[in-house]
Amino acid sequence: MIKLSQPQIPESAIERVSEILKSGQLVHGEECNTFEKELANFLGCKHALVVSSGTAALHIALLALGVGKGDAVLVPNFTFAATANIVEITGAKAIIVDVEPDSYNMDCSKLIATIKSWNYPERLKAIMPVLEFGNPTHLKKYKNIADQYNLHLIEDAACALGAKDNNMMAGTVGDFGCFSFHPRKTLTTGEGGAVVTNNDSLYERAMLLRNHGMIRTADGLIFKSIGLNYRLTDFQAAIGRRMLPILNEWIEKRKKLAHHYLSLLKPLEEKQLISLPKMVEGHSMQTFMIVLSDEVERPDVMKYLYDHGIESAVGAQGISELGNFNHLSNGRNSLIIGKNLHFKGLALPLHEGLFKKDIRYVSLCLKKILEL
Ligand SMILES: *Cc1c(COP(=O)(O)O)cnc(C)c1O
Repeated sequence: MIKLSQPQIPESAIERVSEILKSGQLVHGEECNTFEKELANFLGCKHALVVSSGTAALHIALLALGVGKGDAVLVPNFTFAATANIVEITGAKAIIVDVEPDSYNMDCSKLIATIKSWNYPERLKAIMPVLEFGNPTHLKKYKNIADQYNLHLIEDAACALGAKDNNMMAGTVGDFGCFSFHPRKTLTTGEGGAVVTNNDSLYERAMLLRNHGMIRTADGLIFKSIGLNYRLTDFQAAIGRRMLPILNEWIEKRKKLAHHYLSLLKPLEEKQLISLPKMVEGHSMQTFMIVLSDEVERPDVMKYLYDHGIESAVGAQGISELGNFNHLSNGRNSLIIGKNLHFKGLALPLHEGLFKKDIRYVSLCLKKILEL
């Protein structure tokens, strides 16, 4: 089976995990502290906090910025459901903005139009763009828009560790950047994530939120604020630490494979059977997703691929198409791009363990089923 994705855990990480398990120091020890320093160093930002998931990272960022009841946050109409869910969990309202058909990122002109025509009772508080599948397109523009309209910027960079928009590393441009280390992401710790910032007081607040609002002093524990338990374990941090030095190499490999797909699948695009994703220089290629044309039935394609030993998947969710967000239906008609990606997006196998011949085989099978 050619898998959609396949975590490659280095042998050195496996050895270190068993040492940690035997040591008795399982949570929030030196491995976590060092991983945080290495992450901040890798990203070139001031502070990084490791947390238990990407969703936890987003939750901490929203809470640290004071987002809650009476507020609204702008999110894209094509992402994993967590992006919109977590806004609603804080009591704020997730407002969906449509995305672009080729970068899959939030459309800047629609974003500005939504901000300018805002006349809901909620207070518009933040923009939470997603760098979908590691695509850094518009990161700088999102920052400019946030500054211009005095809104917070939270980057959902869950898929985008190592991506960059020109010289800006994904995750380091907004008030907060949030990463996931789920097995579907390029760097994985099983479950896990990180929240990063350049702002000292936001860092302080995020740190307290992560660990029960608690600080340890010479005089004992002080409970400074309310908080959660979103800690990472030391054995998870140990895995992440040993992947970080090879991450850029992996990204380069993924990009080469993605370019191979693009050249092999170009004829299918010319026949208007599929459309291909937009590749940009700083893309971290967490997922390679194509979009099937209206006439092509996605389940048929997925079944054909599966029968030929190839795993494929839907790419992500059009938030407008999820039942939970019905109260946002007022803007539905303008959410057609995300809707189309929801129904016609097809993620193809892409990971460090694949070879060009695998990409050729997948492309050949796709050609066969689509040209039937
Ligand atoms: C994976 C993902 C998340 C959630 O991360 P978890 O670690 O699974 O909680 C959030 N947003 C996006 C865009 C994601 O891809």
